[in-house]
Amino acid sequence: MARVALVTGGQRGIGAAISEHLHKMGRKVVASYAGNDAAAQAFTERTGIPTIKFDVSSFAACQEAVARIEAEHGAIEILVNNAGITRDGTMKKMDREMWDAVIDTNLGSCFNLCKLVWDGMNSRKFGRIVNIGSINGQAGQYGQVNYAAAKSGIHGFTKALAQEGARVGITVNAIAPGYVDTEMVRAVPEDVLQKIIARIPRGRLGTADDIARGVCFLTADDADFITGSTLSINGGQHMY
Ligand code: NDP
Repeated sequence: MARVALVTGGQRGIGAAISEHLHKMGRKVVASYAGNDAAAQAFTERTGIPTIKFDVSSFAACQEAVARIEAEHGAIEILVNNAGITRDGTMKKMDREMWDAVIDTNLGSCFNLCKLVWDGMNSRKFGRIVNIGSINGQAGQYGQVNYAAAKSGIHGFTKALAQEGARVGITVNAIAPGYVDTEMVRAVPEDVLQKIIARIPRGRLGTADDIARGVCFLTADDADFITGSTLSINGGQHMY
């Protein structure tokens, strides 16, 4: 039986590539999203992958969604916590709302969904969890104290939860993408983007497929000995 995979933020950007690659691998994928119905509809029409709308920052919404997914598709055995947002600003301009939104959406969501699938994975003695962090959680970034804190938190969260899962067949890993050519990065001013690309040893932005291939690798059934790791996929940028 095909394993059920939930990919949050799975209908566009990096998440869409992750959903499609897992689908091609034979997984039964469900892609979640926040509110972009048009993107979700177009994605399902193009790929045949079902989508579900809920706010990953709300524990109650996640609880309802996980129950629905498991009733309709089966137990979630692969979880990819990919949904994320930015609300950039220097400390001078950042307000509490920007802080909370980014922490709750990027990091709180990992707690919400891991908590809700954990008991099931434990009882089946199998689980694959991948949390999408960021190079900016490893190195920090000007104007992103909220995002860097959330992504850095994901890396710590991953290592701690991996220790709890190790004896029961649940692996928990993170991927730290560098700059990937998605809407999130296209919002960066062109001159700033050129400076960023100049700092990437590989000499280009990453693609969503580059990240998706990492997720397939870490969620394979036989990737049993890889847990608590952070896979840097950034064209060599983490070396600087
Ligand atoms: P996009 O902005 O393209 O897509 C974000 C996705 O997350 C969308 O599907 C969106 O749904 C969903 N989402 C946002 N907020 C919520 C919410 N509250 N509840 C449910 N879903 C939500 O992002 P990217 O593809 O660029 O990024 C994907 C992940 O990779 C993020 O975690 C990001 O931080 C990380 N990352 C990205 C990098 C990059 O260069 N792009 C670099 C490093 C890390 P909807 O479409 O409905 O809004």
